[in-house]
Amino acid sequence: MAYTPFDLTGKVSLITGGNRGIGLGMADALAQAGSDIVIWGSNAERNAEAEEKLKAHGVRVMIQTVDVGDEDQVVAGMAQAEAAMGRLDTVIANAGIGRGAASFHEMSTDIWRQNMRVNLDGAFWTLREACKSMVKRARAGDPGGSLAATASLGALQGAARNQAYTATKGALIPMIKGIAVEYARYNMRANAILPGWVATDMTGGLQTFDKFNENVIGRVPSKRWGQPEEFGGIAVYLASNASSFHTGDVLLIDGGYSCY
Ligand code: NAD
Repeated sequence: MAYTPFDLTGKVSLITGGNRGIGLGMADALAQAGSDIVIWGSNAERNAEAEEKLKAHGVRVMIQTVDVGDEDQVVAGMAQAEAAMGRLDTVIANAGIGRGAASFHEMSTDIWRQNMRVNLDGAFWTLREACKSMVKRARAGDPGGSLAATASLGALQGAARNQAYTATKGALIPMIKGIAVEYARYNMRANAILPGWVATDMTGGLQTFDKFNENVIGRVPSKRWGQPEEFGGIAVYLASNASSFHTGDVLLIDGGYSCY
């Protein structure tokens, strides 16, 4: 008999912030592994571009323009996705923004709130609504589901001028662990993914900044930026039956940056 736990045929995965960067890298791999896909993004044009790319893998694809910082949109969006796709097996709260300041003592309350709104409120509402859907399914006799949040290496390390962003990412870890403990009885699991430095729109300015490449990327053992598609493997693993006993974990994918 063949070993096929990574075959995601029949499963449905929803990825917030799935139209670009790390989220699209995850969605693309999930689709290649056979999962039907729902992506959320705040930009309809970018959602449509991602839809074309994902449909080429022959799976069902649903795109939704949802601002994760708006509770009503998240609640309605999750209900619509569940109704249209029939079920939700994997939900990855990945949407995020990174707003910093010239210095911590000059950081405005507005910057603080912008980060909180998308990265923390958004993940809370996304994961809460996903739990509702999965618990309802479990109580109807079909338990299971995988939840994940994209946090950051910044949850563990000090990041000057970015304390609002890293505070949101740090907070995701206990939220995920609490979900893992509370919902294990429904055969649901929850894990946090912590990317290191990845070449996406979010880090666009830094990628061409020589001093940053020298001082920071030069300290990654492979001396290069991570690529969005390098987060496909962890998404497929966490969505698959191969991770059935893996929950409450913090998965650091940083090319070895933090151990150097
Ligand atoms: P990105 O800018 O390429 O993608 C961000 C995604 O989030 C986009 O799809 C965007 O549409 C979506 N988004 C932003 N605000 C939203 C909102 N209000 N509602 C719905 N969607 C929204 O950046 P990325 O690097 O791919 O970031 C993905 C995640 O990875 C983020 O949570 C980010 O904090 C995290 N992360 C990135 C890095 C990195 O080096 N790039 C490192 C650590 C963690």
